[in-house]
Amino acid sequence: MVLFGPAGNDEKFYAEGNQSSVDAPRWLAGLGLTAYEISFGRGIRMTDKTAQIIGAQAAAHGIRISVHAPYYINLANRANLEKNYHYIKRSLELLALMGGDRLVVHTGCQMQMTRAEALQNCRESLQIVLQRLKNDGFEHYWLCLETMGKYSQIGNLDEICALCALDPEHLMPTVDLGHMNCLAQGQLDLERVFMQICPFPQVHFHISFVEYNIKGEIRHVTLADQEYGFDLRRVMVLLHTRPGNDVVISESDRIMAQDSLRLRDFYLQ
Ligand SMILES: [Zn+2]
Repeated sequence: MVLFGPAGNDEKFYAEGNQSSVDAPRWLAGLGLTAYEISFGRGIRMTDKTAQIIGAQAAAHGIRISVHAPYYINLANRANLEKNYHYIKRSLELLALMGGDRLVVHTGCQMQMTRAEALQNCRESLQIVLQRLKNDGFEHYWLCLETMGKYSQIGNLDEICALCALDPEHLMPTVDLGHMNCLAQGQLDLERVFMQICPFPQVHFHISFVEYNIKGEIRHVTLADQEYGFDLRRVMVLLHTRPGNDVVISESDRIMAQDSLRLRDFYLQ
């Protein structure tokens, strides 16, 4: 069964008097949604206690939790490997307390290196991270490496699929169609994307419309903003051809839960 839900809290969630992510699982279940992504993008500030409460709420209301790791993780930067490992490990600890197992990770940036050098660094860092997680006793988790929207970032679909093949038991792609549409300058080839992810029995999707320029991604908009859109009905048809273990997260601006419902309704139709 494909699960649908937002990244972060919708403006409607706050307008209806809710204040904290602790209230989100109940609210989302009331809408008929089944997934919820919590962002540690700008830092990991959650306590163990809050994570446990969210986990209990998520279990009670049938919501699958995923977490987005800090944006400043950059596995191409070998000098920062120790810090990056810590961010991933801490994110996974909190994710586990919330009952989830999918951690979305931005692999890295090219910086002043050649693409090949940066990619090689990412590959080596990733292998070290996986080994250390094993040594530290982590078993049931997924690092969901995300396809990115700027050319300077590591993570076009070819790169992500190749990296994820390093460990099919702990790595899966986060297929961000909006980001990929930025890299394709609006010419996203959906058939090719779904062909390429065939080897992965489950993937994590980010499905939102994203504004772009010649450098790629600028910002996330909403599904109402057709100028940066792609064919959602075709996406849903292709999604139906997959084994069905995927999670679809909306990262729309402000109305991510409402747009998640739109995605779910397209899928059900
Ligand atoms: Zn992301």
